Amino acid sequence: IIGGEVMKTYAIVCKQDQESITLSEKLKEQLNTFLTYNEKEPDIVISVGGDGTMLYSVHKYIDAIDRVAFIGIHTGTLGFLTDYQRDEYLQLVLDIQNGQHRIYERHLLEVSCLEGTYFALNEVRIENNRRSQVMDVYINDEYFETFRGNGLCVSTPVGSTAYNKSLGGAVINTCTGLMQLSEIAGIHHNAYRSLGSSLILDQSHTIRFQSQSYQGAILGVDHLVIDLKDKDCICVKMSSKKARFLQYRNVSFTQRLKRAYLNS
Ligand code: NAP
Ligand code: MN
Repeated sequence: IIGGEVMKTYAIVCKQDQESITLSEKLKEQLNTFLTYNEKEPDIVISVGGDGTMLYSVHKYIDAIDRVAFIGIHTGTLGFLTDYQRDEYLQLVLDIQNGQHRIYERHLLEVSCLEGTYFALNEVRIENNRRSQVMDVYINDEYFETFRGNGLCVSTPVGSTAYNKSLGGAVINTCTGLMQLSEIAGIHHNAYRSLGSSLILDQSHTIRFQSQSYQGAILGVDHLVIDLKDKDCICVKMSSKKARFLQYRNVSFTQRLKRAYLNS
């Protein structure tokens, strides 16, 4: 999408370390000459910190997700969800002032359980570190498998480079609307069998996780942790909600991958 909208207000979500705080003060000083700081109703949300800060930003503005556009400036090592490095903050200011942006949209996952409904930019995980978690997996109400092990992870394309990647899942280009189910230490032998490999599904699928007991298990939603009720029923699908990211410079997905993982 090529953005036609004019950005008038902004807010900053800042990692609470000294470098990020100092950088966000410098940014504010520059941005206040042509934008208005409005924490409640910003057009632009600037995330200053790491990928974790971007996750936090998206969750903070989830109720305004259709109206807000996100952009990240990185203060740590190289970030995957951030387009600007710390020493490029004046370039970011100039780019916002010039206003020639594109908006790209990223699907969120939607998960419902007894506690309520949550949205994830990276992934939803059911994890149990106290005992083997046994759960039945249904895809569109059709029984698929019974999983035993530490847990299962459903990731978005954005999240495919995060936890999912550590689980041996595939990296998926972020322009797709796919979700990926990966196992966390699945138990596989003659008595217990589940798919083992990661499974890629799309927007037409809902995954349901059912168990005799979720005792000791947690539902991880990006950086959030939710306690599961013993007889919980968990449904995960691609949401119609999307997070909108501002783009001023064209960093290809290939380039992003190389920068973050291949050191070139
Ligand atoms: P964190 O412990 O700081 O995150 C772990 C690492 O994942 C950090 O280096 C973080 O980058 C990076 N990361 C987050 N989202 C990413 C993405 N979409 N692509 C590539 N790297 C990404 O915790 P956090 O900052 O609150 O982030 C929560 C996320 O951490 C979860 O959603 C999960 O994906 C990930 N995580 C991964 C593992 C694992 O790989 N074993 C374990 C727990 C959590 P920054 O340092 O820039 O924040
Ligand atoms: Mn982090």
